[in-house]
Amino acid sequence: MLSESECMCPVCISLLIQPVTFPCNHSLCLKCYKETVEKSNLSCPVCRKRISVWARKAAKENKLINMEKWTDIQEAFPEKVRRRLEASEESDSEDDEDDFEAKERRQISCPGEIRQEYEAAIQQIRQKKDEEAKKEEEASKALVEALQQEEFLSENVEIEEKALVLEKKKSKKNSLLLNRVVRLKKCLEAEELVLSWRANNCLVSEKV
Ligand SMILES: [Zn+2]
Ligand SMILES: [Zn+2]
Repeated sequence: MLSESECMCPVCISLLIQPVTFPCNHSLCLKCYKETVEKSNLSCPVCRKRISVWARKAAKENKLINMEKWTDIQEAFPEKVRRRLEASEESDSEDDEDDFEAKERRQISCPGEIRQEYEAAIQQIRQKKDEEAKKEEEASKALVEALQQEEFLSENVEIEEKALVLEKKKSKKNSLLLNRVVRLKKCLEAEELVLSWRANNCLVSEKV
């Protein structure tokens, strides 16, 4: 049974797909082999051993892929192989020139799109400013109202205080007046008493 580490490609650090096994017994995926070794120095990326003679012969005989190992890997990790193949198909199609152009086209904005975006942004800023100004206005209005209310209340308090003072003064005046009346009444009574006494005395003296 194969272990996963035995079937790891040293280039893409993933499960070997269509392994190419060198005479030094190191293996790479066919894709990794083509992208690295074949394009550059034709030596094993792991141990640096020259493989140019073997590589030319294997390519000529169409025996680059180590079919025995590839079959073993497919049998040992069918699910992983399937996923790897799917992923590489996707990346292959992404590398397609047509697709690339389509992607480029998608990235370039439609005519007027930037202007539209700019105007929308400006509009947004204006709206925000308006909202802020409105909020500020409302806040100051509320403040003025609160101040007026306070003023009104304090005015009211002043008036009430004045009224209270007046009331006190009035009642003091009243009581003074009342005292005076009482005193006057007493005086009057005393006078009457004196008068009546005098009258009585007169009567008595006349009789005598
Ligand atoms: Zn690889
Ligand atoms: Zn090697």
